[in-house]
Amino acid sequence: MNHQRPRILVTNDDGIHSPGLTALADAMREVGDVCIIAPDRERSAVSHSFTINHPIRAQSLGHEVYIIDGTPADCVMFGTRGFLDYPLDLVASGINRGPNLGIDTVYSGTVAAAHEGHLCNVPSFAISMDVPRDGYTYHFETGARFAKILARAILSRTMPDGAFLNVNVPNIPWEQLQGVAITRLGQRIYRDKIVRRVDPQGKEYYWIGGEAPTWVKSEGTDFHALEQDKISVTPLGQDFTQFHAIPELDRWNLSLNSE
Ligand code: MN
Repeated sequence: MNHQRPRILVTNDDGIHSPGLTALADAMREVGDVCIIAPDRERSAVSHSFTINHPIRAQSLGHEVYIIDGTPADCVMFGTRGFLDYPLDLVASGINRGPNLGIDTVYSGTVAAAHEGHLCNVPSFAISMDVPRDGYTYHFETGARFAKILARAILSRTMPDGAFLNVNVPNIPWEQLQGVAITRLGQRIYRDKIVRRVDPQGKEYYWIGGEAPTWVKSEGTDFHALEQDKISVTPLGQDFTQFHAIPELDRWNLSLNSE
């Protein structure tokens, strides 16, 4: 029997308890049949890591809802490589608490989950909310509403060759949005440093902290879109090769004889 409704895997890196995951899953249920496979705890900033040194436990929390003690990439591997007994039409990752802009995309577990879906030849997107302007309110309903529009657009077309999508949503009510911008990655300026502290036992410990990052203001970037209260959609791919550097490196004449 043909399965008519698209099958959508929903995952994230904030873990099963994140309201952003629930918002995304609820939105995707209006588009197709949803399976959630999510990490059993927060796994933000684990990037594309996957688990090879210990067994992974999966637990069913109900119909088509699973948690695993693995990473976001593990979740998508489960979804695409034999844990489920049906093929997927879409991987949706998020909705992340906090944006994934510029080089954030390298560290992000949210983006890595979509990347893994892409590597498994399933159309995929990651979606993240910008930081709350009042310090605590996340307008996940805004992101969820756009996720529906995007999912339907993806499922009714062919994804551009070699691309998966990274979406960032201004953290504001839907009515205040100023549109959608197709963007490139901007440049974030991290100001992290290793902060040294002393614990109550007198031992040193460290924390990666420092000042909040800023960014290079440049039109056409994901940062710029959010600044204009527009939803940012950036096509990403898996090839890090800097093609312009190949002829330059050729001119280095690296050889086994140049010791
Ligand atoms: Mn996260």
